[in-house]
Amino acid sequence: MTADVDELVPYGGVRADAAWADEVRRLAADRDAVLLAHNYQLPEIQEVADHTGDSLALSRIAAASDASTIVFCGVHFMAETAKILAPEKTVLIPDARAGCSLADSITAEQLRGWKAQHPGAVVVSYVNTTAEVKAETDICCTSSNAVDVVASVPADREVLFCPDQFLGAHVKRETGRENLHIWAGECHVHAGINGPELAERAAADPDADLFIHPECGCATSALYLAGEGAVPEDKVKILSTGDMLTAARDTRAESVLVATEVGMLHQLRKAAPEIDFRAVNDRASCRYMKMITPAALLRSLTDGVDEVDVDPDTAARARDSVRRMVEIGNPGGGE
Ligand code: SF4
Repeated sequence: MTADVDELVPYGGVRADAAWADEVRRLAADRDAVLLAHNYQLPEIQEVADHTGDSLALSRIAAASDASTIVFCGVHFMAETAKILAPEKTVLIPDARAGCSLADSITAEQLRGWKAQHPGAVVVSYVNTTAEVKAETDICCTSSNAVDVVASVPADREVLFCPDQFLGAHVKRETGRENLHIWAGECHVHAGINGPELAERAAADPDADLFIHPECGCATSALYLAGEGAVPEDKVKILSTGDMLTAARDTRAESVLVATEVGMLHQLRKAAPEIDFRAVNDRASCRYMKMITPAALLRSLTDGVDEVDVDPDTAARARDSVRRMVEIGNPGGGE
């Protein structure tokens, strides 16, 4: 279980200058390591990494890489997923305390209890879950293919969807499925981006596109507000972080309001520098993600820490649910 974020003191005291970047690159080469950075990482970590992307894309890169060591700059469940998909590689996370409030909102024991109340139900879990929860899951999903994954389950089977209630509500509405049960989990960052705030920002900039991650507290409100005419329906785009980059390159809008963690703005601005990207909520910053500091990365590469391990039996069962996810629909995206 992740510690209270207020008690966690990130490693600090190192300036992310050119000498730091050179040292990081040299140490990575010495370790035969590939550096992966999630879209919500600090800009300097994204810039020094070999690859930046969403959690699933990075895990696939990890598995396909020739490097013997993966340094995963993200949160713990993401590094675990890389280890599940690439068990023969050494996987390091620069600070193992970097957890995730959404992944922590359901434990394997809680999931086993829920399953016992619904015998025969199919368990669909978002990728923001621990390896133990994935091992109890029938099919994992990303925000891109959650609807397809649930639609692939025979209509007469109950579905248990966890852990994110906002993504679950989106899937229930899209599939119209009454036998879908939703776990009441949420991410503290995404839940903090709410509908009224979105409506206010959209009213102030009526020509802007609205890029909204389905985990956001405002995702359901956005669709409701669009239905009510409070925000223009054609401007609302519910997108995974990976799909946001594609949409940024394709949009004709001059400005875009972005409802997800603020680290995403760095890649969006790089993808389409002519567009004015603005956060719906400037305070939507994940402090777990920001624990991967320049000092933490240097320490990780110097000392070979913190190594991520997953029990082989748990990893094998978790791998099955991740593989089923990859077989269904468009599995791009995730957080
Ligand atoms: S932004 Fe939320 S879901 Fe993403 S890693 Fe942070 S706590 Fe978890």
